[in-house]
Amino acid sequence: MPDLADGACDVCGGALVGPYWVHERQKLVHTKCRAWESVAWPFEATLKTLRESWSAADPDGRARIAAVGLWLRQRKSRWPRDASETAVELERRIAGLGRLVRT
Ligand SMILES: [Zn+2]
Repeated sequence: MPDLADGACDVCGGALVGPYWVHERQKLVHTKCRAWESVAWPFEATLKTLRESWSAADPDGRARIAAVGLWLRQRKSRWPRDASETAVELERRIAGLGRLVRT
């Protein structure tokens, strides 16, 4: 299997290291480099995943998942304002939930 992160960002040319990159029309770009403000709300599937994960979680896990879900719904209501920051922060928050969320 090729190492998909072994390349350069199509926007800034920086190395794609770590988990923080996405596909953009078959090109790879850093999450922070994608023109998020030009795309329609892209995180509906993430909201669905959070709802499903909430259903399967224990009470402590539910509280943590619900906090991310509330934050993400608030970001949806103002999209695309702060779009890039939302995308980067969402990755961080989902990673923070660890195994509570199956992505
Ligand atoms: Zn970049």
